[in-house]
Amino acid sequence: MIPVAEARARIIGALSTAPVEHVSLENALDRVLADDVAARRTQPPSDLSAMDGYAVRASDTEAGKPPLRLIGESAAGRGFDGAMGAGETVRIFTGAPLPEGADAILIQEDATADGENITVTESVETGTYVRPAGLDFREGATGLKAGTWLSPRQIGLLAAMNVPWLPVRRRPRIALLSTGDELVRPGEPVGRDQIISSNALSVAGIVRLAGGEPIDIGIAPDRPDALAECAAQAKGADMLVTLGGASVGDHDLVQDVLGAKGLAIDFWRIAMRPGKPLMFGSHDGMPLLGLPGNPVSSLVCGLIFLRPAILTMLGVPDPEPVIHKGVLGAAMSENDRREDYVRSRLSTGPGGEAVVTPFPRQDSSMLSVMSEARALVIRPPHAPAIGEGAPIDYIALDGVA
Ligand code: AMP
Ligand code: MG
Repeated sequence: MIPVAEARARIIGALSTAPVEHVSLENALDRVLADDVAARRTQPPSDLSAMDGYAVRASDTEAGKPPLRLIGESAAGRGFDGAMGAGETVRIFTGAPLPEGADAILIQEDATADGENITVTESVETGTYVRPAGLDFREGATGLKAGTWLSPRQIGLLAAMNVPWLPVRRRPRIALLSTGDELVRPGEPVGRDQIISSNALSVAGIVRLAGGEPIDIGIAPDRPDALAECAAQAKGADMLVTLGGASVGDHDLVQDVLGAKGLAIDFWRIAMRPGKPLMFGSHDGMPLLGLPGNPVSSLVCGLIFLRPAILTMLGVPDPEPVIHKGVLGAAMSENDRREDYVRSRLSTGPGGEAVVTPFPRQDSSMLSVMSEARALVIRPPHAPAIGEGAPIDYIALDGVA
């Protein structure tokens, strides 16, 4: 059995990035940049006012100076033409260009207007309420780096940088092949000894949330010829993921059948619970990941191995699962030699800390528990028994699984 981190490192190390494609900014949400992107303009393009008020020379606002003379207006998108001399002022609004000669903004609350005479009631310093040119970014400077995941925050920045289309990684195509004579798709007629196949759909969700494109290539019956035939449908994908059939039971064929057809297995026993039977290798030149069939194992291994694999293909620099710190909501007994991913509730303690409480039942077939869980407590191999309130590491499930 090999450790989880080693297995993941081997998977990540065997993968290459997906090809580049170009998308418009409207279609760039949740994509990953394939190249650094530079600003195509300076923002703000010139010194702008941050408030409604009067453009002034700061020295004209010192106590004892006479009222200022109003000589015009500067609005956003419609600046004041001409220069402002000593003792003069220009009415100005948020986002409007600072007139030539002005060096500060006097907010309107600190002035009284009487026709063209503006009396200053509070003096200002040079630069007050001025957003200098280039405050946000400068033309030509790298605004975002290759490997950046594009969330609404980055979309806004790219728009302001005047970048209408950009290079992103093509979504990795992940072919999902379920295996098992007992499986039927949701909604199809169900025989007496059959169950509904859930893994293809749940793992497809993990693929999508990781930025990949799932392709369901069906359910292979537990017959060698059928399995090989179904696996052939993955042609054109970036990775084949088999679901189930990866252990050593009589009916677990993936290893045997695909092995005979050019499957080079890298490993298949992971010191992990849930999910000991896990496979990685290549099949016909395509990376192959064999996830365990138990529905919870499929999801957890999808999160721990497949998500990082997809992020790696997208060129994201830190594909590993994000580890959070929390405290235990209930005691846990000593762990054996397998790293444990324990389905748990997540709540907030009195001091604002994350309280993670394992469910008493951890059977890897129980999707009801998995559905209620919002965290996986990570128990390292041979971890000693720990009590309520002890610090632990956990993985948050919201947004990723
Ligand atoms: P296997 O890895 O094929 O031995 O499957 C382990 C367990 O997971 C068995 O109880 C299977 O019935 C179940 N299982 C396998 N594939 C799926 C699936 N796609 N959806 C739901 N359960 C599955
Ligand atoms: Mg099976």
